[in-house]
Amino acid sequence: MKFLATTELGRLCKWLRILGYDCGYFTEDSLVSLTIKSLQEDRVILTRNVRLSARAGYKVVHIKSDFVKEQLKQALDDLKLEPDKEAMFTRCTVCNLLLGPIEKKEAKGKVPEYVYETNEDFVKCPGCRRTYWHGTHWGNVREYLDGIRS
Ligand SMILES: [Zn+2]
Repeated sequence: MKFLATTELGRLCKWLRILGYDCGYFTEDSLVSLTIKSLQEDRVILTRNVRLSARAGYKVVHIKSDFVKEQLKQALDDLKLEPDKEAMFTRCTVCNLLLGPIEKKEAKGKVPEYVYETNEDFVKCPGCRRTYWHGTHWGNVREYLDGIRS
């Protein structure tokens, strides 16, 4: 399942990417292009825009809360999604592109020194060239998810 979050849901979009979901971020003003994009790319629209929720032809989840934690809970619950641990941290939170593995030495200077010394596996975004490392905030994310699922 792929998503398209509208402009006011930037933080939710980032969280879905952290969990490994393909989530596009739609920042234009046109509801027509939003609809077309969602149909062409087969994406569920996530929005707080009430004008969108009643329209037919594409799937819309109308997010109710202002708070990202509740937004994420609603998205996961409404769509019956069970985040896959293996998929977490496989996607760039900025570009939505899948990260690819790199040699450890390529990460030298791109990440904090202690991170370089204590990690073996590094990945990089093919778009923005950001370097990530496995285990990035892993504990925090698990706690966060446990918090919203309980
Ligand atoms: Zn990127």
